[in-house]
Amino acid sequence: MNILIAGSAGFLGAHLTKHYLMQGDCVYGVDHLGSGSKKNVNLFLKNGDYHFIEHDVSKPLPADLPHIDIILHFASRASPPDYQKHPFDTMDANYKGTYNLLELALAHNARFVYASTSEIYGNPPKTIAINSHTYTLIPTPEYFWGNVNSFGPRSCYDESKRVGEALVFEYIRKGVDARIVRIFNTYGPLMRPDDGRVVTNFIKQALNDEPLTIFGDGTQGRSYCFADDLIDGIAKVASFKIENVRDKLLAYKSQFMEKRPSKYLFDLDNDIKLERVFNVGNPCEHYSVLELADLILELTNSNSSKNFFGLPKDDPQDRIPDITKISQVLGYSPKITLKQGLEKTISYFKEIL
Ligand code: UDP
Repeated sequence: MNILIAGSAGFLGAHLTKHYLMQGDCVYGVDHLGSGSKKNVNLFLKNGDYHFIEHDVSKPLPADLPHIDIILHFASRASPPDYQKHPFDTMDANYKGTYNLLELALAHNARFVYASTSEIYGNPPKTIAINSHTYTLIPTPEYFWGNVNSFGPRSCYDESKRVGEALVFEYIRKGVDARIVRIFNTYGPLMRPDDGRVVTNFIKQALNDEPLTIFGDGTQGRSYCFADDLIDGIAKVASFKIENVRDKLLAYKSQFMEKRPSKYLFDLDNDIKLERVFNVGNPCEHYSVLELADLILELTNSNSSKNFFGLPKDDPQDRIPDITKISQVLGYSPKITLKQGLEKTISYFKEIL
């Protein structure tokens, strides 16, 4: 098959490129090298099945592409310091880029996979009480509509990912076979050392015996998914045939119908959303920032101290994916513990730093 991966030189795009090349597919990797790394592209250039196209997806795609079977849109900055430094590039990738790639999907009758994010849920409350019933939102299920600040420092990313999802839904209504993966915190080799996210910052600081930068009191938590597990989930979402999983989707839905509290918050009647949107992440590997810091110090044998700074505005207190749907419907089951994944990531950083 011919696969077009937008963001092929980025962290997840490069892992996806490797996955499809190893499967024997032909990959057209599109990237404008804004946040992606040329080094990641160099990994693939010797492979005759890889075709690199230096191009900004916020501009229409080249007209001379061969027939494309699947388009994966992973061309967006995703690190908070990075997207806050480049808000317009981020919004362009998620609005204009999504539009241009969906137009391409329409023209080629290609399947489309959109990299959305846990950020579209914003800062979910732990629970919500409606009509004297309390519902749990952490772990966060796909049917939660979100609690997002449209004016905050994260809004260029959160809201542009949300409008990207809205575009995808409009193109599904036009007939494009599109799916959305909502990606929770992911880490692994091929991340940029200056990425700015917590795992890369702590590994770099620990290896250099510099103080670890803890934002807030470090009690805020995230669930950490290793790149290989995440790619497995994305590939499952990219490849399933809806008619083959409809019974499982309906069984999943029926578990929630009885306790559905309110049409304004939950959306289980929406069959497009039921079939097309999947959380991907690893809920089992949930750590506070302080626990993560201690684990990285232990694994790197580092004597670094911890420096505490103010918590950035709108930094979510907790994030855990509810992966019931992708697990029950597509058989997804992340396997790599944070400790195992960090060992691989630390080895990679020791090589490149
Ligand atoms: N964080 C931290 N020190 C850092 C970078 C991040 O304490 O050097 C915290 C950040 O405030 C957040 C968590 O680690 O609570 C995860 O941040 P990251 O930027 O990796 O991703 P996010 O989940 O916020 O998008």
